[in-house]
Amino acid sequence: MSAVETRPADAGRLAHNYHPLPVRVACGEGAWVTDVDGRRYLDLLAAYSAVNFGHGNPRLIAAAKAQLDRVTLVSRAFENDRLEPFAAALADLAGKDMVLPMNTGAEAVESGIKVARAWGYRVKGVPDGRATIVVASGNFHGRTTTIVSFSDDPQARDGFGPFTPGFRTVPYGSAEALEAAIDETTVAVLLEPVQGEAGIIVPPEDYLPAVRRICDDNRVLMIADEIQSGLGRTGATFACDRAGVVPDLYLLGKALGGGIVPVSAVVGDADVLGVLRPGEHGSTFGGNPLAAAVGLEVVEMLRSGEPQARALALGEVLERRLRPLIGHGVTAVRVRGLWAGVDIDPEVGTARQVCERMMAAGVLAKDTHGQTVRFAPPIVIEEADLHHALDVFEASLRA
Ligand SMILES: *Cc1c(COP(=O)(O)O)cnc(C)c1O
Repeated sequence: MSAVETRPADAGRLAHNYHPLPVRVACGEGAWVTDVDGRRYLDLLAAYSAVNFGHGNPRLIAAAKAQLDRVTLVSRAFENDRLEPFAAALADLAGKDMVLPMNTGAEAVESGIKVARAWGYRVKGVPDGRATIVVASGNFHGRTTTIVSFSDDPQARDGFGPFTPGFRTVPYGSAEALEAAIDETTVAVLLEPVQGEAGIIVPPEDYLPAVRRICDDNRVLMIADEIQSGLGRTGATFACDRAGVVPDLYLLGKALGGGIVPVSAVVGDADVLGVLRPGEHGSTFGGNPLAAAVGLEVVEMLRSGEPQARALALGEVLERRLRPLIGHGVTAVRVRGLWAGVDIDPEVGTARQVCERMMAAGVLAKDTHGQTVRFAPPIVIEEADLHHALDVFEASLRA
């Protein structure tokens, strides 16, 4: 059957930029979603970690509803009473001075690039127009034309040039290669502390500390794209915490919007983020009162440390269940907190086929890069439900 025939009939009006599993969700609660026919499924993707706190999280829904009745959008032309409290809480959570609020993850990445370049010219003294940024192979930072310019995934790039210059790609996980790519024009190193879309690639233990040291030695900003890895997923507030590293800029998104509205941010200290002057950067929706109210509640939840601890504990369950599958339909398992990439033995089928079998048994997961299944359930998932999902996964390897 072709991809088109497996789509619901009326999806013909959508651009074909996704190939979804043929399930049509009508509502959701916690780690569960229900389709239009009333079938329930466990959600093991959590919208690529944008739904870390579960579908319809009562605290987040209450915060959003309260704000809907007050005011939702005034633009940054005026101040709003939700934005400063949100910025202060998020900056405190990250141990930084300042927050630049945006909407989508790609906008946070673009904003981080602009900030790093402006810092390079105005503070570091790089000649105008010459700034370079070092990035890693296998990266995923979003879908804008500048961001796909430094992707090495042909699917993300092909057909979308001409590309934005100013980026150098080095192998992910090699501190030596990274150091060798830095010269006097380098303003920043931009990395995912764990690569999400690449298949939950956890770098060698000494890698991020080495990157931090190299950035310090060369007066280069370390920018951590924590859009998918941050805000509880890895069993810590930031994946960088687990490596004992503090970047100069955090790029946040996805879970920051509580699964309700798109909220992203660049978080950093005043000596870096302070380079932006009024009128140089902005967004009509960035920092709107509804986004700020939801984002503030997300930060309040993380401040307790409870989601992080839960992700860590459930992540141990996940790892204990997945590891023994190596050699039994699975060729590799990578786990960081409640987040796993599992490589499927081609003898069993493709990752897509495994996901289709799981869907038929009531569990939704998503393949990435052909042979990898990603597990990223909402952190609120019940332990018994996680076990059930893993039972279904094991059965799907035998099918
Ligand atoms: C999803 C993602 C992005 C892009 O976020 P969007 O909201 O889809 O623009 C950027 N970086 C990483 C690491 C991501 O996982």
